[in-house]
Amino acid sequence: AVMSLVLAGCAGGGAGGGAGAGSAPKAASDTRIGVSLPSQDEERWITDGKAIKDGLEKAGYQVDLQYANNDIPTQQRQVDQMMTKGANLLILAPLDGTALAPQLQQAAGSKIPIVSYDRFVRNSPNVNVYVTFDNFKVGAQQATSLLIGLGVLNKDGTEGSAKGPFNIELFGGSLDDNNATFVFNGGMSVLQKYIDNGTLVVKSGQNKLSQVATENWSQQKAQERMDNLLTAGYNGGGAKLDGVLTPNDNIARGVITALHNAGYGPTLSSQPKPMPVTTGQDAEVASIKSINDGVQFSTVFKDTRALAAQAVKASQDLLAGKDPEINDTKSYDNGSKIVPSFLVPIQPIYKDNIKSALIDSGYYTAEQVAAGR
Ligand code: BGC
Repeated sequence: AVMSLVLAGCAGGGAGGGAGAGSAPKAASDTRIGVSLPSQDEERWITDGKAIKDGLEKAGYQVDLQYANNDIPTQQRQVDQMMTKGANLLILAPLDGTALAPQLQQAAGSKIPIVSYDRFVRNSPNVNVYVTFDNFKVGAQQATSLLIGLGVLNKDGTEGSAKGPFNIELFGGSLDDNNATFVFNGGMSVLQKYIDNGTLVVKSGQNKLSQVATENWSQQKAQERMDNLLTAGYNGGGAKLDGVLTPNDNIARGVITALHNAGYGPTLSSQPKPMPVTTGQDAEVASIKSINDGVQFSTVFKDTRALAAQAVKASQDLLAGKDPEINDTKSYDNGSKIVPSFLVPIQPIYKDNIKSALIDSGYYTAEQVAAGR
């Protein structure tokens, strides 16, 4: 159920808990919104940036969109500059959930509301709302998809015919990104039982997030770690790798490159060394092509159009002195407070629902999927 609590009673707001308490709300055309996103290295954030900017501009706001090039000092500097230029509200996807503390302190002093966008602002009371996808569910879905790909589970959730044992390896996201922990924990909440009963074997023994994390969710780093795992555990002894829990599409593509180089594939049905079952997140077009081609097994679609629209709505509410719409009041404790959150639904993607979920909904054209860009 969606909860929406309106604090400001007077028309036009301004008297409530939100922005500019006590002063008359500004016209949208006089309102500047700063948007800080992690990097342009991943298609995911480029799509988000466009959707947020479009949505805010349609609502009449001035927008200052910046990408931090995966560099924390750059992000701090960009956010400082947004405030110097007179930002009235900030939408932030922090690289390091804790690193923007001084900026948030200053924003609070200037009564600039903060929307934490997809990535979680941590250890600060100065954040009004978190709009995100359900990150724990993303991880649980990835693990379920891995089990489906191996035949351990059927798509309807019933037990499949395959009993293993299957050799798998685990990858995680970037440790400074709170989402990496939620996604990994979600994944292990599903996989642990199959590891414990011997259906799945993590041959390297690396099964903690601290051991399997990928700095900056880097494709290159993921490829290197997969190369090393293959050299150490698989190439010599002839053991076959059956599946890899890969936490997003960017990492999946790095892992798949390493597997190709080691003679796996080219596809999931090739013999004698089929491509291992892989998972993903973001439904990036290059990975959708790969899934369509039978190489990557699955991904998790997070509709960035819906997330961006939710951030725009939250911004409008906060600027009007209202409390934004939320649907979760318990999952996201940032160390300073539980941040009221709006979690947007997710959807698993396999080869057989690319058309219905992504093409028919207008997210991609058939041509884009065929070309992978
Ligand atoms: C996002 C993912 C993204 C990853 C790498 C996470 O915080 O939730 O969608 O793939 O960062 O950029």
